[in-house]
Amino acid sequence: MEILRRQVRCLLPQEEPGGHLAKNAPNRHRRRIVVIILQSDTTKLQYNSIIAKVEELGFTPHPIVGVEKTVIAVIGDKTPDKIEILASMVGVDRIVPIMEPFKLAGKEVMAEPTIIELPGPTYIGGERVAVGAGPCAVESREQYLETARLCKAAGAVFLRGSIFKPRTSPHDFQGLREDGVDLLQEAHETVGLPIVTEVMDPEHVELLDPVVDIFQIGARNMQNFSLLTKVGRTSKPVLLKRGMSATVEDLLMAAEYIIVAGNDQVVLCERGIRTFETATRNTLDISAVPVLKRLSHLPVIVDPSHAGGHRYLVPALAKAAVAAGADGLLIEVHRRPEEALVDGPQALSPDDFAQLMRELKGFAQAAERSL
Ligand code: PEP
Ligand code: MN
Repeated sequence: MEILRRQVRCLLPQEEPGGHLAKNAPNRHRRRIVVIILQSDTTKLQYNSIIAKVEELGFTPHPIVGVEKTVIAVIGDKTPDKIEILASMVGVDRIVPIMEPFKLAGKEVMAEPTIIELPGPTYIGGERVAVGAGPCAVESREQYLETARLCKAAGAVFLRGSIFKPRTSPHDFQGLREDGVDLLQEAHETVGLPIVTEVMDPEHVELLDPVVDIFQIGARNMQNFSLLTKVGRTSKPVLLKRGMSATVEDLLMAAEYIIVAGNDQVVLCERGIRTFETATRNTLDISAVPVLKRLSHLPVIVDPSHAGGHRYLVPALAKAAVAAGADGLLIEVHRRPEEALVDGPQALSPDDFAQLMRELKGFAQAAERSL
C-alpha cells in the first residue's frame, strides 16, 4: 500500500515538472491526464472492468491501442484516492501522469507508432511508405475515374480527390460539392482504393461520412475547433494538414482536439509553411518530419505538391520526405494537368507519377522502408 501511496503522491499537481516545451508550462486550468498502463496479460474482462471503473469515478477513458500494448488515458480532475482505486485494480500495471502539453497525441502516452488501418486492406504508419495520389479536385466522372485508375496502376494505396475546395477567391471553382458525393463512392467501388476527401464544414461531416475512408482537414481549417471535434466524433481516420502558419506544437494541439473527441486515428501532414521565399508555393519544413516523429506516436506524411507548388519540384520533395522518415506521401496527379481546374501547375501527369513511384523505391529502401 505504501508503494501505491508513493505512486499516487507523485501524481499530485504540485509535483508536476514543466511540460515538454517550456513555454507551455502546466496551466492551472488545463485538465490533467494520467495514463493507465495495462499489464501485458490483462484480459478483456479485466480491461472492461477498468473502463467501467474509470467511468464510474466520473472520468472519460480514452483507450489508445498500440500493436504491442494498450493504454487508457484518463481525463478529468483526479483526486489521489480515485487514482489509488484505479491503481489497485487487477490488470493495471501502473499509472503515469502526462506532462506534455499535447497529451494524447504525444509519445508519453504511447511510445509505439500508431498504425492506421484502411479498407483495402491497407494502412498508414507501418513499415511501408503509403502513397496517396489523385487530383486536387474531382471535376467530372471521366476525369476522376481515369486519374484514379492510373494512380492505382502506378502503386498509390489511397486516392485523394475533393468535392469541397477551399479557394482563395470565391470566384474560382469551388468543387462539385454535394453533386460529387456519388463520384467518390463510385471511385471507391470501381478502383478499390480508400478515399481521402476534404471536409470544410462541420455540417458536411454526416454527408461525407458514408463515402469517405479518411477525412482531410485542410491547412486553412487546422484550427477550426468545431470541425476538429466533429470529425473526432466519427470513426473514420483523419488526415490533418498543418496550417500554413502553424507551429509543430499547434499541429499537435489540433490533433489533440480530434483525439479528445474520441478518435485517435489521426495522420499528421506537413504541406509546407509560409515563409519569405516566393520561389516555391510554400516552404517544405522537412525538419517537421523527424520532429513530429519524435514528439508523437501518430503517422506523419508529406504533401510535396502543395509545398512546392510546381510540378518540377514534386519528385525532389517527395524523395526528401521519404529520406527524412515520412510514413507516406500525398501527391496531386491529374490525367491532363494542363486542363486541371485547380492546382494544375503542381499536378503530375500519370506517367510522371508512375516514374516517380519507380524512383522512390530506392529512397524507401535506403530509409529501411518499402513502397
Ligand atoms: C488540398 O489538399 O487540395 C489542399 C487544399 O491542401 P492544403 O489544405 O494543404 O492547402
Ligand atoms: Mn490542391
